[in-house]
Amino acid sequence: MTDIQYPLEGNCQCGQVRYHILQPFLYQAVCHCTDCHKMSATSFSISAAIPKDAFKLITGQLKTYTKTAESGHTVNCYFCADCGNRIYHHSTGSPDIYRVKPGTLEDTRIIKPDVHVWTRSKQDWVKIPDDILQYETQPENQNANT
Ligand SMILES: [Zn+2]
Ligand SMILES: [Zn+2]
Repeated sequence: MTDIQYPLEGNCQCGQVRYHILQPFLYQAVCHCTDCHKMSATSFSISAAIPKDAFKLITGQLKTYTKTAESGHTVNCYFCADCGNRIYHHSTGSPDIYRVKPGTLEDTRIIKPDVHVWTRSKQDWVKIPDDILQYETQPENQNANT
């Protein structure tokens, strides 16, 4: 995708929150955990990891929802204060990383997952391509979601 230009631009559903992504994602993970079913209100979520410094909030106000992950880490989840659209989350398990919800990007062609996690709770209808890395739960070495 040679025509992808940085910064990437993203925004929430109501448009009040706008943000920039300043550099390419480190990796993109699809998460099939039951929390992500709730959060996305559908079947899975995608998290695209970047160094904290590569995320820049341009306009709008984010609210925070804090939860404790199964790993024991504290996860702060940031969403638009008006429309509730999740923008990113940040875990004490990976303090230097933000995990952005790439469906909020203006140009979603950048989305290309590297790994699927928590396939143990995957919804039956979802078919994962054979050639992609999969973990039944959370991989030890790649703290992909939380
Ligand atoms: Zn909004
Ligand atoms: Zn999840």
